[in-house]
Amino acid sequence: MHIGDGMENKKVLIVTSFFYVFLFLTLCSFLTTLWIVDSFGNVKTDQIIYTIFSSLDGTDMSVVISYLLKCILLPLIICVFIGYGHYRFRHKIQLKGKIIASFLAVISLVGSVFYADQQFGFIGYLKNANNKTDIYTAPKKQVITEKEYFGDDSIIYQDAGDAVITGDNTNNLIYIYLESYENAFMDKNNGGLKEKNCLPELTQLAQNNISFSHQEQMGGAISFAGTDWTIASMVAQSTGLPLKTDVLNTMDQYDSFMPGATTIGDILHKRGYIQELLICSQKEFAGTDKLFIQHGEFQIVDFNDLNETGRVYRSERTDWGANDQCLFRNAKEELNKLAATEQKFNLTMATLDCHMPSGYTCSECPTTYDNRYENIYACQSKQVNEFVDWCRQQSWFANTTIVIIGDHTTMATDYSDFISEDYTRTTYNCIINSKVTTANIKNRTFTAMDMFPTTLAAMGFEIKGNKLGLGTNLFSPLQTVTEKYGVEYIEQEVQKSSDYLDEHIYQFNR
Ligand SMILES: [Zn+2]
Repeated sequence: MHIGDGMENKKVLIVTSFFYVFLFLTLCSFLTTLWIVDSFGNVKTDQIIYTIFSSLDGTDMSVVISYLLKCILLPLIICVFIGYGHYRFRHKIQLKGKIIASFLAVISLVGSVFYADQQFGFIGYLKNANNKTDIYTAPKKQVITEKEYFGDDSIIYQDAGDAVITGDNTNNLIYIYLESYENAFMDKNNGGLKEKNCLPELTQLAQNNISFSHQEQMGGAISFAGTDWTIASMVAQSTGLPLKTDVLNTMDQYDSFMPGATTIGDILHKRGYIQELLICSQKEFAGTDKLFIQHGEFQIVDFNDLNETGRVYRSERTDWGANDQCLFRNAKEELNKLAATEQKFNLTMATLDCHMPSGYTCSECPTTYDNRYENIYACQSKQVNEFVDWCRQQSWFANTTIVIIGDHTTMATDYSDFISEDYTRTTYNCIINSKVTTANIKNRTFTAMDMFPTTLAAMGFEIKGNKLGLGTNLFSPLQTVTEKYGVEYIEQEVQKSSDYLDEHIYQFNR
């Protein structure tokens, strides 16, 4: 055996390993792109990252398993097959051929990364994350002290902790997040895309009360970076800030959930409200418990609490915990308890039945719509409406503001392909028993962040300047930041990193 043979073997080994590593990476990245589109639809990078990492937290292992099978195991199997063929014909393949194959593998990897970027725009996402924004620290104009000071809509960001908020005779609050509930499921006359309205009761309820819209027909808050997955929507509506996906990198520091933020929970707690979060999933998911306990000392009643005390019927169980029949039945019990304290209360709750990939059916679901998901949507409409009817009969109803709001547009891709690219997707909103009103409810541009000051105003609070976080009180004469500066500009800025947010809101380094 010659020394040259050893060199040759080494070269072959390096080229071969090189080929298989790149082949594997190419297959992984290509299949991952297909998998994401299939599982989540047309979503933004931040939403994907958050959803995937949150799944690692334990609640929905099916997402993780599906990923491992389709995007890791499948490429491995393909590599093994090719490797076997390679081994059988090893003597017929020249080093030159191996080098060409490796080169092709590298090109394919570049191609598949490029394809993924076309789908999700993650290069723009990385670029934004490396740029800094100054929207949070831009100098504010001197406030002119007039008696009728409504505020200044050139201000983009108002630290909610510094805001002057007053109000004596304020209402109780019931805040209902509706999972994946969007207006596209209404009929065409009402501003949706369906022939038959999938949420007839809630459309009526929105029409009879206050519902802000981006158009003349029914509508709502637009999808916006950092606000359109469940926990991000809760953060946006509670703090007037989008959720940064940077927090993913510091999951271990998650002990504190945006410690520098002032939320609606903090504000109501300071004013003596007793607060409760009721959910039929697990409170630990995506840090939900920390957000609500650390901001306003909410008492949390989640699936485990309900289950341990025998408050979940067998028929109500789902993969996540329990369905919305369970939620509304227990909400009534919890409201009776809260009302008995004779303190002002805030009950925040979140539904789940319309969750992706295909929702949960229950014994109350109709069968009269075209598909399973439409029936579930219709069921949600009926159940929420029945719950509001029950509230109407309670002694506390007149002093209680009810906010019903879609947390984000749906990610159930199999059931949302009727939504055309040029249709503006918006979440459902309805405010019942608002203490203030405005004629300016149509043709508004707003995001989930504007709900923070808007909800407080509806409860009867006065917010000096009408701005909290990046949110604007929709009842005030001010333009929202997206109306004043345009959606594109604000959305681009919030995706950039910010020293202010890192130091003052997230407090990463403390
Ligand atoms: Zn149902």
